[in-house]
Amino acid sequence: MTESANGAGGDAPGDDDPDATTIIDGESVAADVRADVAAHVETLADAGVTPGLATVLMSDDPASETYVSMKQRDCEEVGIESVHVEIDADAPADELYETIDDLNDRDDVHGILVQLPVPDHVDKRSVLRRIAPEKDVDGFHPENVGRLVAGDARFKPCTPHGVQKLLAAYDVETEGADAVVVGRSDIVGKPMANLLIQKSPVGNATTTVCHSRTEDLEGKLAAADIVIAAAGMSEFVDGSMLKPGATVIDVGINRVEAETEKGYELVGDVDYESATEVAGAITPVPGGVGPMTRAMLLHNTVKAAGIQSDVAIDLD
Ligand code: NAD
Repeated sequence: MTESANGAGGDAPGDDDPDATTIIDGESVAADVRADVAAHVETLADAGVTPGLATVLMSDDPASETYVSMKQRDCEEVGIESVHVEIDADAPADELYETIDDLNDRDDVHGILVQLPVPDHVDKRSVLRRIAPEKDVDGFHPENVGRLVAGDARFKPCTPHGVQKLLAAYDVETEGADAVVVGRSDIVGKPMANLLIQKSPVGNATTTVCHSRTEDLEGKLAAADIVIAAAGMSEFVDGSMLKPGATVIDVGINRVEAETEKGYELVGDVDYESATEVAGAITPVPGGVGPMTRAMLLHNTVKAAGIQSDVAIDLD
């Protein structure tokens, strides 16, 4: 494969052969983010502040339980205190609202994350609005969404922010590039597109957002220098749809049946094998965007602690 049309592959970490497709190593970039976070935790400790993240789980879904326990483990590794609250999935919505109110008032809690999805009888929008914007480390409160769109982000949502860090780490040129984001969700697609169009580093891309009603997705993908696949459909983007040399970021995490111990395996939205033949750079699943999402939550929590305790923390 030739070097990426939009600049990936030059002196990217771990890329010795300039003709090879660059495999974007999310584990390695996430480790760098965590090391940076740990250094900021030290700065906060010098000022007598221990950053704290509260996770709230109102669900019996085993996947949600796993996500929450991974987040707690991540916190421990970098010196962030974690507080965990579990609420019965059948409990009235008020119980969740009151929990959020209590956490908003606690000085030792700098970030609050309510694990989504919440049960059907709980209004997700009300939950997201209830979290104090300065503790909203997911970046989903309308105030934080507005600030992101206005180019004055406080907390960038973790997954798109993680993608931005990957693009930066691998010197992918976004300025003037044609980027296609497949998916328009509030947590991935929309904020991703908003970051890519900003007049700022790892922005300035000409960005097209595709979704379930998009016509001629193939034509749009074929012209894209950068593809961000976030539709939640297993392996639907294959190599034949890509522009040679494109950078391909696979956000999707899909469970498909497989003869493994668990009876399934995780695959992305991109058919990795065929895409790797055509792309200039590509993220694997697992090991691409996933570790970045986790790392950026720690980043946002430390940033939140700095803001709330008036300690200068230099994080974007
Ligand atoms: P979502 O279901 O909320 O959104 C999917 C989007 O895909 C929708 O906007 C929809 O319009 C679009 N879409 C559906 N069918 C389409 C089609 N045929 N063509 C084009 N677009 C189509 O999902 P989400 O929460 O944004 O997550 C997307 C994927 O990313 C999922 O697989 C999810 O598991 C994964 N995810 C991964 C991470 C991570 O850290 N790697 C984080 C969040 C989500």
